[in-house]
Amino acid sequence: MKAEIISIGTEITTGSTLNTNSYFISNSLLEYGFETTHQTSVDDNIERLKKVIEIALDRSDLIITTGGLGPTEDDLTKETVADYLNLKLKKDEDMKRKIIQLLGKYKNIPKNNFKQANLIENSKFLKNTVGTAPGIYLEHGDKTIILLPGPPREMEVMFLNEVIPNLKKNDIKIIKKSINLTGIGESLVEEKIKDIIKMYDDIEVATFGKIQGVEIKMIGRGSDLNILENKINHLQRLIDTRFTDKVYSYNNEPIEKIVFELLEKNNLKISFAESCTGGLLSSKFIRQSGISKVFDRSFVTYSNKSKMEELNVSEETLLSFGAVSKETSIEMLKGVLNREDTDLAVSITGIAGPRSDSTNKPVGLIYVSIGNANKTITKKLEFNGNRRSIQDRVVDYALFEIRKFILNNY
Ligand code: ATP
Repeated sequence: MKAEIISIGTEITTGSTLNTNSYFISNSLLEYGFETTHQTSVDDNIERLKKVIEIALDRSDLIITTGGLGPTEDDLTKETVADYLNLKLKKDEDMKRKIIQLLGKYKNIPKNNFKQANLIENSKFLKNTVGTAPGIYLEHGDKTIILLPGPPREMEVMFLNEVIPNLKKNDIKIIKKSINLTGIGESLVEEKIKDIIKMYDDIEVATFGKIQGVEIKMIGRGSDLNILENKINHLQRLIDTRFTDKVYSYNNEPIEKIVFELLEKNNLKISFAESCTGGLLSSKFIRQSGISKVFDRSFVTYSNKSKMEELNVSEETLLSFGAVSKETSIEMLKGVLNREDTDLAVSITGIAGPRSDSTNKPVGLIYVSIGNANKTITKKLEFNGNRRSIQDRVVDYALFEIRKFILNNY
C-alpha cells in the first residue's frame, strides 16, 4: 500500500514553518507497515490543492493531508477535497454542539467556527482531544483519505489515537534495523556489502553517509514477522563480521549514549574544558539521565583570562602560540586532569567563525585534546561550514575520539 502525505499551508511553502508533520507521519507509518512514496507541500490555494489531490489519488492508496482544517477563510482542505470528489458537505449537529460547548465561554462564536462541524458524506470525524478542528477519515473506492489538522501537537495525538487503529487492518509487516559504522566511507561500505544488498528480495539494504560515518539500513517487508526477523539477523551477523571494529552502534543510538555506556562499563569519570563550543559538548552529554555516574565537571573557558584562571594555562603559552593552538589545548586538558575527580578529560579550542581571531588563523581550525594521567592525544582539525555546524561537528568528533581512546585502552 502506497502512502502519500500532503502538507497544506502557505506557511510551509514559504518556509516560515518547518514541515515536521511529514517527517512524523512517514516515520510512524513505516512502523505500522505503510510505506510513504510521496510527500507534497502546497500553499493555501484551491486550484493547486485540487491538482495535488488529483495526482495523489492517481498514484497512492492512502492519502494523508495536514493543515487547513481550521476556522479561518484560508482553511479550505475539507471543502476542496469534498468538491474534488463530488461529495456533499453536511453540518453534523453533534459536532456543532461540541463546538458550542468548547467555545461557549466566548460571547460570540464566529460563524466560521461552525465550518469545523461540516462532515464530508460517507466520512467520519476523527476526535481532536487537543484543539477544536476534528479530522476526517474517508474511504473512497479503494482509496483512503485522511485529513488532519496542521498544529503538530494536535495532529500527532490524533494520528496515534485515531488514525493508527483505523489502519491496523493492513497485514503487511515492516521491520527495520540499522547498523552504524565509523571510520569508513560510504562507497567502501557499499562495495563490501554488494552481495548482502542482493541477498533477500524482501529485505532492502541501503547505505547513508553521515557526518561521522555510515548507516546501513535494512528494511524487511512481508507477512511473516519471524521470517523477516531471521533474515535481518542473518544479514546483521554478516555485516558485523565484515566491519568488526567499525561498528559503533545499532539503530542510530547516538554516540553520546555509546560513550556513556563505555565510561560506565570501565568505571571512568570524564570532564571537559570547552572554548569555542561554549558548553555544547557538556550539554549534549548531560541530556542522558544517570550521567552523574560518569561525568564530573565542565569548564567553559572562552576568554584567555578564564583559561588562565580556571585551568592554569600559562600567559606565555597564550602569547606565544595563541588560544587556538596545540599547546593551549594541551594545557587546558592538563588543567582539567589536575582535578582529582576525573580519570579522563577532553579539551576543545578553535575558531568557529564566521570571523577569525586576532591571529588570523583560518575559521574552522580546531584542536581537540583527549587524555588521562598516562597519555595525551591532540588532533588538529580543519572544518568547513558555518559557526553552528562547525560547533556541532566538533562535539560529535570529540565524542567519537573519546570512544576510540577508551577502546584503545590508553
Ligand atoms: P487550526 O486552524 O485549528 O490551528 P489547521 O488545520 O487549520 O488548524 P493550519 O492553520 O494549516 O492548521 O496550521 C496551523 C499551524 O500548525 C501553523 O501555523 C503551523 O504552526 C502548524 N503547522 C501546520 N502545518 C505544519 C506542518 N506540516 N509541520 C509543522 N507545523 C505545521
